[in-house]
Amino acid sequence: MTDTAAHGADPDKPSSKRWIEVALTVDGEAAEATADVLQRYGYQGVAIEFEGIPAERLDDDELPPPTHMTVRAYIRDDERAPETKAQLEAALGHMSLMYPMPTPVYRTVDEEDWAEAWKQHYKPLRIGVRLLIRPVWVEIARRPDEIEIALDPGMAFGTGTHPTTQLCLEALDAHIQPGAQVFDLGTGSGILAIAAAKLGAAHVLAVDNDPVAVEAALENVAQNDSIDKITVQAGSLASVVGSARRFDVLVANILARVIIAMCEERLGEVIRPGGLGLFSGIMVTQADDVEAALRATGLEPFHRRVQGDWVVIEARRPAAA
Ligand code: SAH
Repeated sequence: MTDTAAHGADPDKPSSKRWIEVALTVDGEAAEATADVLQRYGYQGVAIEFEGIPAERLDDDELPPPTHMTVRAYIRDDERAPETKAQLEAALGHMSLMYPMPTPVYRTVDEEDWAEAWKQHYKPLRIGVRLLIRPVWVEIARRPDEIEIALDPGMAFGTGTHPTTQLCLEALDAHIQPGAQVFDLGTGSGILAIAAAKLGAAHVLAVDNDPVAVEAALENVAQNDSIDKITVQAGSLASVVGSARRFDVLVANILARVIIAMCEERLGEVIRPGGLGLFSGIMVTQADDVEAALRATGLEPFHRRVQGDWVVIEARRPAAA
């Protein structure tokens, strides 16, 4: 399986009506490794449930030791499902050489139930020192210095649990300057656009070529009182590169092959001279190829952040001579 499936909403996404839930209850050290493996195959990352501990108690101070937890992921029940399951089982089999591994439990979930099933297991998440991602249906006390993003990702990608989303959030936190003009290309749930706005951007243009994502992003933007700072549009690079708009920061958490293709469509030009591009959806093994493409579109990669198999590449457009 390629990173396409792992990374969720894809332009050629089939309209599958059923999902397969994969659940593994694991102990101790195996939990993180299991989550890592499922992350590669699941749509929207994984959900981790700590046995018997309600979500609202899961704040920093009370995090239980990772002894007994259930890791869940969802895959589309389509013609590729048997192959995905086989690959997942092979990866888990490999892990069983190192840890005692239970066999995965599968359950078919109808599309209508999928969002609900996901909701039961999607928990508040703290990223970096400042960002708190809160599912809209969970109440949690926010520390005064925390920036909260309330999310209902619905069927759109971008819950904050995927390493690439977390890497992009960290990079945004490090780089957004007050008053910045930001372009979020492939906004999914809108999570990065909302974070950018809350981190001080003056305006964010958020586009996605998946209507489901556009709808989810619009709802989440409204939910976060960010309507005056974020414009959500159906579209892609083409609708912007042809206009005169140039941005201080571009963030594109899509897929290596999509970013490489966009580099051939003058992706670098949407960033103002001296501005910054943050690129993810990229596996560590693909980073060299993506950096070569970024150079070809006039950008200078200068930093990588890595989480597990995933990387965000930070690149600058040279200031005009
Ligand atoms: N920004 C979110 C979502 C990333 S998933 C996050 O970081 O979590 C990638 C998103 O890009 C999906 O919503 C997908 O629909 C969108 N996408 C994929 N190819 C695209 C393209 N060519 N143009 C615009 N959006 C695209």
